[in-house]
Amino acid sequence: MPHFPSSARWRVSPATTMAQMTIKTDILVVGGGLVGASLALALGDTRWKIALAEARADMRTDTRTAASTQAFGASDDDWDLRMYAISPASRSFLENLGVWQRLDAQRVAPIHAMRVRGDAGSSLDFSAHDSGVAALAWIVESGALMRALWAALERQPGLEILCPASPQALDICKDAARLRLADGRDVEARLVIGADGARSFVRNAAGIVASETPYGQSGVVANFACGRPHRSVASQWFRDDGVLAWLPLPGDRMSMVWSTPDAEALLALPDDAFCARVAAAGEHALGELRLITRPAAFPLVALKSTRIVSQRIALVGDAAHVVHPLAGQGVNLGFGDAEALSVVLRDALDGADPGAHLLLRRYERSRAEDILAMQWATDGLARLFGSRAPGAKRIRNWGLNLVNRLPLVKNALVSHAVAAPR
Ligand SMILES: Cc1cc2nc3c(=O)[nH]c(=O)nc-3n(C[C@H](O)[C@H](O)[C@H](O)COP(=O)(O)OP(=O)(O)OC[C@H]3O[C@@H](n4cnc5c(N)ncnc54)[C@H](O)[C@@H]3O)c2cc1C
Repeated sequence: MPHFPSSARWRVSPATTMAQMTIKTDILVVGGGLVGASLALALGDTRWKIALAEARADMRTDTRTAASTQAFGASDDDWDLRMYAISPASRSFLENLGVWQRLDAQRVAPIHAMRVRGDAGSSLDFSAHDSGVAALAWIVESGALMRALWAALERQPGLEILCPASPQALDICKDAARLRLADGRDVEARLVIGADGARSFVRNAAGIVASETPYGQSGVVANFACGRPHRSVASQWFRDDGVLAWLPLPGDRMSMVWSTPDAEALLALPDDAFCARVAAAGEHALGELRLITRPAAFPLVALKSTRIVSQRIALVGDAAHVVHPLAGQGVNLGFGDAEALSVVLRDALDGADPGAHLLLRRYERSRAEDILAMQWATDGLARLFGSRAPGAKRIRNWGLNLVNRLPLVKNALVSHAVAAPR
């Protein structure tokens, strides 16, 4: 039986009397966002007893009413504000979990080609056909993916879902970790997984140091009906005023992410002026634009953790790393963590301790290269294209043109992108 030292973080609150109750489990996943939910599902067929603690009560009902969903306009234009570009590797992970099959195929759009434009006439073009893959990625609504994951979670035998659950304190000792919830319940687990996003309670309580660097930009997101068909082509412009991405949605619609320092001024524009500004920034490639969701902005930061494991703790998803959205890879990297950790735990010997240092180190090592490569690439591109230094413009545009002329390098980039996050 583990011995828990008394700690200054333990508080006796009125709620404590309500539930002097300890839930015992092998593995506790804290955070039921896209990454935490996928991990809890992936651990479903292991011999471990799993619990999932999620703070938001509305996850259990219909995530369509959640903050990520903001319907705007007519009912056939009732689209989520937030969209994700899901890589082929993430898609097959979600297929193996039986989640991808739950999505409405009519609301998922493939990306068959991608055009990247530099800020001095350079260009880089990728195509799924040239690279021998079915699609470079698929655009999926955030709320639809979340609902599909939670519908599968609710059907998972043996999974204990604690929702809403608000962690107050975490004590870690040699044999187990104990999480105290605001309602007075304790959850004792041999492994606690922090899947609780960029402001991770688990990461902070475990004393894992993370550095956060703001980019001085926000990601302005909005969805549009377009005057011209996109032909399943995604476009990205590296501009003086940030990185603009247009991602194809089903029908003649597209989803925009504009990472820019001028988010406030953009959002202050009346709808018509906003649409005209976005259309002009994208060289009117899709004709006239009409908003179908209310635009919103998300401040962009880079977050790097010194470790993604510590005693009885593992981190996944944004709790472990936050990258710039210019490559649309944040959640893909998180799904890669979830898949890798589930594989390490599934492959553990019978009778193994899921929080054993050796297993956690194996997980950390398996993720080190992908995480570093993604941080390096997204950070490097964001800074190179954000630089006003003399000569920077020439170098970055020369780099884009050079890669475009080297089919082998291009194919290698695509294979890495479609295979990531494995
Ligand atoms: C503008 C923008 C565009 C993006 N576009 C893309 C894209 O196209 N493709 C892509 O791959 N990525 C994209 N990303 C990145 C992506 O949004 C994140 O990487 C992803 O959402 C992280 O998922 P997560 O589950 O790790 O964390 P979160 O989504 O933050 O989920 C954390 C969960 O934990 C819960 N929680 C928090 N604290 C606690 C607590 N103390 N106790 C219990 N539960 C808690 C929360 O309620 C939430 O459900 C984009 C990001 C931005 C800002």
